[in-house]
Order: sequence, then structure tokens, then C-alpha cells
Amino acid sequence: MPELPEVETVRRGLEDHVVGRTIEVVRVLHPRAVRRQPAGAAEFESALAGRSLDRARRRGKYLWLSVGEDALLAHLGMSGQLLVGEPDRALSPHVRILFTFKDGGPDLRFTDQRTFGHMCVVRDGAELPGPIAHIAPDPFEAAFDPAELARRLRARRTGVKRALLDQSLVSGVGNIYADEALWRARLHWARPTETLNGPEVSRLLAAVREVLGEALAVGGTSFDDLYVNVNGESGYFERSLAVYGREGFPCPRCGTPVRRDAFMNRSAYSCPRCQPRPRRARF
Ligand SMILES: [Zn+2]
Repeated sequence: MPELPEVETVRRGLEDHVVGRTIEVVRVLHPRAVRRQPAGAAEFESALAGRSLDRARRRGKYLWLSVGEDALLAHLGMSGQLLVGEPDRALSPHVRILFTFKDGGPDLRFTDQRTFGHMCVVRDGAELPGPIAHIAPDPFEAAFDPAELARRLRARRTGVKRALLDQSLVSGVGNIYADEALWRARLHWARPTETLNGPEVSRLLAAVREVLGEALAVGGTSFDDLYVNVNGESGYFERSLAVYGREGFPCPRCGTPVRRDAFMNRSAYSCPRCQPRPRRARF
């Protein structure tokens, strides 16, 4: 599943290959891909035909292109990809929406095998689309306020990993990056947020930024010139993970075997020695 660094990589690709161009025609090839569009595929297509794409922006895992005062909002879901390439290439059966441009150059294809992703046009959404206004800023946005997050985190009375995954507190931190950041900050994932002291919160936020920043640096170089792509994988995953997906392997800091716990139908990976389980754990 694409996380913030992969989505940011796609945003940069859109900025390089699509922004500044004028759409000629939009064709919705599968209605499920525009299921959030109030009046459906015809409205989506007509709202975009002939219009110019001005900017590519992101909040958490949502992307949007500003189209005058409106927004073309996208979520990639589990398997969504935005592919840019020469218009005469073969049309894959997983293409859900096809955008062609007036300059006759590379087209844009929203491809999604499982169709959990979607796109929609949001009127007057250029600055911040209404459907995502409740999502908190992510750690790379100017609007992100570390002191405010620290205050809200301690007021939440939950486990710290659950809080990190709560998109209304901070966006863009998925399962993998939460585990890696907690390991770096030497905090157990079930640590009650109200027991975190100031330095621990600062350490955690620094670790979140560091982990996401490193993944961004890698993700930013992983697609070639004419191909904007996200597939939920990144070189970073294989090379730099300390604990995620590494049950039984030695902790890179102390050598203790990494432990896996069940967590919210998924897993939480941690080092039993560097991240001791708190006496009053909150799951
Ligand atoms: Zn350790």
C-alpha cells in the first residue's frame, strides 16, 4: 500500500510531467474509479475537458491537482498508479481513467487493479479540497505544528502507535513508518500517550520526520523520466528497515531478536530490549 513517501514521489512526477498542460479529453473506463463524484462519470469528464492543470499538491496520502479554483482529487488506494507515457502505447485492462492533452504529448492513465483508489472533481477545492479538510497536516507541510501535535497526543489517552496512525492527529504515517519511528525513538508501540514526557514526544516527532525524510530521498529517485509510478514498494523498504517485517532478526542496535505482536488486524514490530513494554499498556 502506498505510504506518504511514495505518494509524494507521484506528486513530484505529476508536477514534472502534467502540471502546466491543458486536458483535451477525459474518459472514465470504470465507474467505480469515480464513485465519489456526486453526478458520476459524465460530470467528472465534462468538468475537466479543456481545462489546465496548475499545481500538484498533497496532504497525507491524498493528491490533488488544482484546476483553476477547483481540484482534481486522487487517492491511490491499495494498488493505484498514475502512469505518464506516449499516447500510442497499449491500453492495459486495468486503466480506469484516461486523460489526453491538447499538446498531443504523453497521456496520463489512472490504473488500479483492485479499484480501491478513486478520483473526483471538487468545486472550489484548489486550496484544500473539502473531503480531506478533516485530515491533519503531515510532518512536511508548512501548516504542521509540532507543539500542537504534542499537546493533542498527550490528551488522546491511547496507545502511541494507534495515535500515530490517526489521520486526524497527524497524516501520512502508515504502519511501516510508525514501527520504524517508534524503534528509533525507543518507545514501545502500546505506550499510553498521556505518560509521554516532553523530550519523548520531541524524540518521536524527530524520528517520524527522519524516517519519512529518508524514504522520500530514496523514493524521489526511483522512477525514470517519462513514467510516474507507485506500486507500494520502494528500495527503502529492503535496505533500511530496522524492525518492520523482521520478526526474529537481530535488532540493529542491540542484537535482541525483533518481536512481532498482533495489532489492529495487522502487526507491530519492536525490539523487546530497546522498547520495553510499559506496565500499563494501551492497545
Ligand atoms: Zn534493540
